[in-house]
Amino acid sequence: MNRKFTRREFGIMAGAAGVAASSLGAPAIAQGKPRLVVIGGGPGGATIARYVAKDSKGAIDVTLIEANAVHTTCFFSNLYLGGFRTFDSITHGYNKLASDYGITVMKGFAIGVDAAKRTVSLAGGEKVSYDKLVVAPGIDFMFDAYEGYSEAVTSTITHAWKAGPQTQVLKRQLEAMDDGGVFVIAPPPNPFRCPPGPYERISMVAHYFKQHKPKSKIICVDAKDKFSKQGLFQEGWDTHYDGMVEWLPLKITGGVKAVDVKGMALHTGGDTIKGDVINVIPPQKAGNIALAAGLANESGWCPIDPFTMASTRVAHVYVIGDSSIAAQMPKSGFSANSQAKSCAMAIRHALTGSKAFDPRYGNTCWSLISPDNAVKVGASYKATAEKIAKTDGFISKTGEDEALRATTAGEAFGWYDGITADIFG
Ligand SMILES: Cc1cc2nc3c(=O)[nH]c(=O)nc-3n(C[C@H](O)[C@H](O)[C@H](O)COP(=O)(O)OP(=O)(O)OC[C@H]3O[C@@H](n4cnc5c(N)ncnc54)[C@H](O)[C@@H]3O)c2cc1C
Repeated sequence: MNRKFTRREFGIMAGAAGVAASSLGAPAIAQGKPRLVVIGGGPGGATIARYVAKDSKGAIDVTLIEANAVHTTCFFSNLYLGGFRTFDSITHGYNKLASDYGITVMKGFAIGVDAAKRTVSLAGGEKVSYDKLVVAPGIDFMFDAYEGYSEAVTSTITHAWKAGPQTQVLKRQLEAMDDGGVFVIAPPPNPFRCPPGPYERISMVAHYFKQHKPKSKIICVDAKDKFSKQGLFQEGWDTHYDGMVEWLPLKITGGVKAVDVKGMALHTGGDTIKGDVINVIPPQKAGNIALAAGLANESGWCPIDPFTMASTRVAHVYVIGDSSIAAQMPKSGFSANSQAKSCAMAIRHALTGSKAFDPRYGNTCWSLISPDNAVKVGASYKATAEKIAKTDGFISKTGEDEALRATTAGEAFGWYDGITADIFG
């Protein structure tokens, strides 16, 4: 069914940054081709840039602003820690987006959005104007949630929750650790990027220890009392890494209160827990540029129109991926890619009048527990007036046979190849 224009797509809505849309001033579309600017070249931003450029067949001018020259995917970064992938194999460039799709890829860091003038400011002083803007910067961290933790100490106590140099530091630390050492990991409270991710990380580090440092231990100081795919992970740890993993829920420790970098310890509500390698994943919020642009509400995340991913706070701006409040959709690369495709359709509709349909969203998260043994959880979603709502879902079962788990692992590797081609071309 051809979907009707929403009020928002006509720019009738007022921006939360206090800018009434009627005062936005800028014409709906400047002379020449309409211009889409995308901030962030991750699974959300790179996908939407590619889909708008590809499907508009050059009718829309697309610029992608990305801080880094290459993108290392967070997905499969745990597999790099486990020794299943090389760093190069999870790192992707933007060349094809430029050469095959005509996208202008600008390496730069966006520091502000002027909703009235419809421009994005970059740290280098440039200004880029847009007719429609997509903000897809992923997450940023609330380091101050834990006394003693800050960006400055992450070369010693990593977060490794934005893949790249941080993941390499963590891998080097694990490799340098003596057999019999203790790896402490502190997963964040909800909501956060990739709900099963910390527990897949535990599995991958356990696999590495089992191969190379079998006397070592893993202690998980969780900020929660339950976690994604819990039964499946705990069964996997008992089966494959017997006695190696100790998971401490919030109700036992009271959670992390302070990080002692010199003493290599976490102070919790109760005990102090020492580690030889410590990985603290702090509480999270939308990427800083989304907050600077006035796109986030008091939760620290960005509300959106479930049909189009348009911001409900600032006109002509869309938020996709981890920064958005996508209700029941988890913050995942799969979700970001799925949202990007629906949002691409809405933006082409708004800029060129092409057809738009009610969006369908999907997500599946695979987690490798040991070689040839993966589990998955997934769901389908539809847009409703209130939210992106789950329509059905599935999850692996405990006690599944080895052949099924191996098939699931094979799916995960196939998915990685498929989705990275879909994102980066
Ligand atoms: C360990 C781990 C494992 C995971 N495993 C899975 C998995 O198996 N499956 C899955 O689906 N998901 C997984 N995820 C989650 C997934 O990686 C994220 O949900 C996904 O990357 C979100 O995409 P995004 O585009 O919103 O943000 P990002 O991937 O963070 O991309 C944002 C991009 O924007 C850029 N940027 C940010 N701010 C600016 C700025 N101001 N100016 C210019 N550029 C900027 C960044 O450099 C970055 O390239 C995992 C995450 C982690 C940490």
